[in-house]
Order: sequence, then C-alpha cells, then structure tokens
Amino acid sequence: MSKVDFKDLPRFQRYADKMFHLNLLAGAFTDCRSCPKIPGRAVSLSLLLGEVTQIPSLFQLQAETELPQWQQWVGYKHRISDDTLDYVSERMDPEKLRRGAIWINRKLRRGKAFEENRINGMLVVSLDANEQFHSDHRCCEDCLTRQITTKDAEGNPVKHTQYYHKQVYAQLSGPKLSVILDVEPMRQGEEECAGALRLLRRLREKYGPRFFDVVTVDAWYTNGPFLKAVVGMGWPVVSVLKQERYDIYGEALALTKGHLPVQTVERDGRKVEIWDLRQMTFTDTYTEPVRVVRVRESWKQRERIGRKWVIKEKEENWIWVVAGDLNGYAGSVIRDLGHLRWKIENNAFNELTQGWGLTHCAHHHPVSIQVLLWIKIIAFTLFHAFAILHGKLLRLGKVTFQELRKRLYRSLLCGGVQPFYSG
Ligand SMILES: [Zn+2]
Repeated sequence: MSKVDFKDLPRFQRYADKMFHLNLLAGAFTDCRSCPKIPGRAVSLSLLLGEVTQIPSLFQLQAETELPQWQQWVGYKHRISDDTLDYVSERMDPEKLRRGAIWINRKLRRGKAFEENRINGMLVVSLDANEQFHSDHRCCEDCLTRQITTKDAEGNPVKHTQYYHKQVYAQLSGPKLSVILDVEPMRQGEEECAGALRLLRRLREKYGPRFFDVVTVDAWYTNGPFLKAVVGMGWPVVSVLKQERYDIYGEALALTKGHLPVQTVERDGRKVEIWDLRQMTFTDTYTEPVRVVRVRESWKQRERIGRKWVIKEKEENWIWVVAGDLNGYAGSVIRDLGHLRWKIENNAFNELTQGWGLTHCAHHHPVSIQVLLWIKIIAFTLFHAFAILHGKLLRLGKVTFQELRKRLYRSLLCGGVQPFYSG
C-alpha cells in the first residue's frame, strides 16, 4: 500500500481548477431543475469525484456523500441520495457535457499536451466501437435490440430479444496522454460505419478540420463508401485490410511475393519489412487510386514450454490501405500511424474499459446513460492530464494510475481540501 499524502487531492483540485476552471465547469453541467434544493454543482462534482476515486455504484456514492470530507469538497453539507443522483442525471444535458469535454481537449492541445502524440508531425484519431452493456430484461427507449438464441433447462434452443447500448468513440492516441474526443451512440438498425461517420462529421464541426490530421480504423470500416466519405471530409484514412473478399488483398500479396521489401526498419525490438504499392484500385465504390502498404514484423520471444525456456520466432503480417493523400510519407510512417491504435499501453479506450468501468451502466435511462458516460470521460481526461502532465509520482514511476486514484481517495479521507463551492 502506498503512503497517504493528504495533499494529493488538493493538488488535483488546484490543477483542475487552475487549468480547466473545474469549479465553473461543474456549475455549467447543472441540470434543468428550477430552484433545486440540492445544487446541481454538488451533484456533478460528486459524480465526477466518484469516477476519479473509483466509487463503483451510485448507491455507494450516496454513502460517500455522508462523509464530512466529501461534503466539504463538493460544498454541500448533506448526504445526496442515490435517488437524487438518478433523478439529476436524467435532467442534465449531455450536450453541455460534450461542450465541456471539447473545451478541455482544445485547451490541452493549445497547451501542447499532444505534441508527443505526433507521428511525423501528424495527430491521429482512431475510431472504436464498444458495446457498453446488454440486458434481457430492462429496456429504455434508446435500447438497441437483437434476437439471440439461448438454451432452456432441457437444452432446447429458445429465441428471445436482447437489449443493448453501443457507442463509437473517437480517440486521440499517443505515447503518453490519450483522450476521447467525442462519442456517438449507435442507433437501431444501422451499421457501425453510419455511427462513425456521424461522429466524424460532428468532430469536423466542433473541433475543426485541422485539430487532427489522419483517421485510422480497423478492418470493419474498410469499405468504399466509408473511405470516400472520410476523405471527402478532408482526412486521409489508414485502415486495416483483412477481407480476402476484396481483390486488392490477393493482388497486394501477388505483387509483393518474391520481391525484396522496399524499406526495413526496427520498431520495439521488431524487424519491420515494408512493401509499398501505389496507384492500386480498391473497389467500384472507391474509384480513386489507393496505396497499399504490406508489413511483415518478425521478432524473437522467450517462451516456457514444459520446464524449459525456448526462443521462438514470431511473425505478424499486416496490410494497410491508405485512402487520401499521404503520398509524401514513407511506408514506415503509414505502419506507425496504423499501429498507434493497437498499442494497449497508451490506449484511452482500453484504460477506460479496464480501470474505469466503461462497460458498466449505473442508471439505465436514455439521458443518464449519456450523461454518466460523459462525466466518466471528463473525469478520465482531467485525472490523466493531472497524473501525466502534472504529477511527478507517475513520471518517476513511483505509482500506477490505479494507485494514484486510491491515494486521491485516501487523501480526501484525511481532509484538508478546500470547498469548491459554498452555497
Ligand atoms: Zn436502454
């Protein structure tokens, strides 16, 4: 157990307030109740602090709000019931929260927080879809539905309806600070690509076309209409080609077979061999020429087999399709752009799933789902900016993210925080 430092939470508070005016921001997240008995700011700060300090449910959060130290922090001297947290989250505006998140991300970019994320000067956004949760019983008006088959007690197949929520995320990835720029809920009956395009159009409108430079996607999105739409918005796309059903896949293999790679580089101890094909034809639905970059990565790995350690030869093969203009960049740059989203260690999306309960729904209500998701994303960004850009402990390798979050909670218990709001 790491030591308790009562100054940890005040440090986070000072940072969030100085850099992002958290006090004012939390006030702007307030809900539409007229003359609320419990100030909206106290509720939104509680939800935010609950995320940072890993409080697992709104019921548990209710218990935390009984602590005088918590009440001191959020500036409200009474307990906040889980019913109130439910009720208020149903009446908060997800748009206001989105605006808050955009404002924070813009400020981070202006403050050069993403400079290390650049690959050959370019900032990369990757898209990922995530099924937040599914349920057989509960349902809200925004639930997506699907038919699934399970087995009854006798082992006979039974068809029934399953309800679920799924979102597409836009992530700005990098070696240190990765953030979620925006998130779009998927709608009934649509493909992931439709949700992803809606998300990209809004990114263009809210952040502007030059906030980032390249879009990367996995094989799911590699189709003509999607590539055409994204290039039409002004962004080149680097996407994974997996489907053997595309002629271009077999063509790329045939054209590179027996040829020496045009470039060989080393990445993270791997030998990376690259073949680069220009002016290739993709499909009838994307008639502009595309570039295809084939990559073979090989490395040696120590593995234990039985009682012995053996050195095994490992190999991975990738084919990337590049739509739009990245002609001036070497194949190794295309490989690096494409690979950014696969790196687990600096992936906001993975961190949110593993450490922040992204697949958990605290209150199943169409507005609350979005509101609570945005609060989670904002808390995540503020905490990571604090830990990575400001906190020395993490930089020195003395604590992990999870330990630092626990320390913030323990320092809250020690008291010493200044009230954010006294009303
Ligand atoms: Zn629902």
